[in-house]
Amino acid sequence: MKVFGIATPNAPAEEIEIETPELTGASVLVRITHSGVCHSDLHAREGFFDLGDAGRLPYTSAGAEYPLVLGHEIVGEVVAAGPDSTVQPGDEQFIVFPWIGCGECQACAEDRENYCIGAKRNLSVALNGGYAREVWVPDSRYLVPVGDLDPSWAATLACSGLTSYAATTKVLTPEVDRPIAVIGTGGVGLSVIPILRARGHRNIVAADVSEAALENAKAAGATATVLTTGENAVADLVEAGGGKLAGAIDFVNNGATSSLALSALGVGGKLVSVGLFGGQLAFPTTLVALSQLKIEGNFVGSLPELKALVKLAGETDLPRLPIQERPLEAENVTGALDDLAERRVAGRVVLVAN
Ligand SMILES: [Zn+2]
Ligand SMILES: [Zn+2]
Repeated sequence: MKVFGIATPNAPAEEIEIETPELTGASVLVRITHSGVCHSDLHAREGFFDLGDAGRLPYTSAGAEYPLVLGHEIVGEVVAAGPDSTVQPGDEQFIVFPWIGCGECQACAEDRENYCIGAKRNLSVALNGGYAREVWVPDSRYLVPVGDLDPSWAATLACSGLTSYAATTKVLTPEVDRPIAVIGTGGVGLSVIPILRARGHRNIVAADVSEAALENAKAAGATATVLTTGENAVADLVEAGGGKLAGAIDFVNNGATSSLALSALGVGGKLVSVGLFGGQLAFPTTLVALSQLKIEGNFVGSLPELKALVKLAGETDLPRLPIQERPLEAENVTGALDDLAERRVAGRVVLVAN
């Protein structure tokens, strides 16, 4: 099978031939038709995550090996299947759930594979990802039918959409008129706004350092927007929401944004940390106790959450990020990642096989 691998950190992707894994059990081989280019692959391409004062977390610590085959927003059709697969080869398109756990720990048994404590098998990390002609998936249960959705957009649901959906589950409160802030509405953050609305929340404040990002947030359904470049960003954020926040989802998650979010939280408020931009959390610990604050991280989501999101997307008219389609080729993997790094992409790039 042909994959677009990178030989060393930051190297360009190259088309290489690798051995196709055996199709035992319920495993399947999927011909990739659509492959979304996600911002998190930029960190992966660099070879590490920035952990602030704690240094760097190498990408290889999660089981990745070079040549690295990144890409985890995959739509495709099954071309070969193991004897126990519940899906047979055909032209039906599926979203591939990429956040695959060990299959043996309690979290995996409970379908919370993004909380797996064993040897994870995440596609684009421990297993080869979607910058490829084909991808091997360990079990057909990880295939979610695309149905009537646009396949390019459906691909992006597997990471950015799923991350947004899972983060909303963590931040939502029955107090639907208390403000929830979405910090960083440039990329993934933008997609969370319509999901919050579709799930019944009525007071959504978009916060960003860019006027253009706030315009997009307003169009996506934010009830208020706030530019956080002012001297009193906390007060501006609270004022925009009409009171202290019930919650915040931080898609930047650096030192400045996390401190902004925590400072704007009201009693019992929760910060959901999503972004991987790196930095250090600094906040008065006494206030965490007095205001009974909660901080919860979010990394992608579970298979049931992806299915719930796909169902929601089928039933609700969720606004979509603008998508640029480019041919699924090695040079476009590199080009799309470069464009993302240089902030030349408004929305998402999805690589499409011809
Ligand atoms: Zn991603
Ligand atoms: Zn597990």
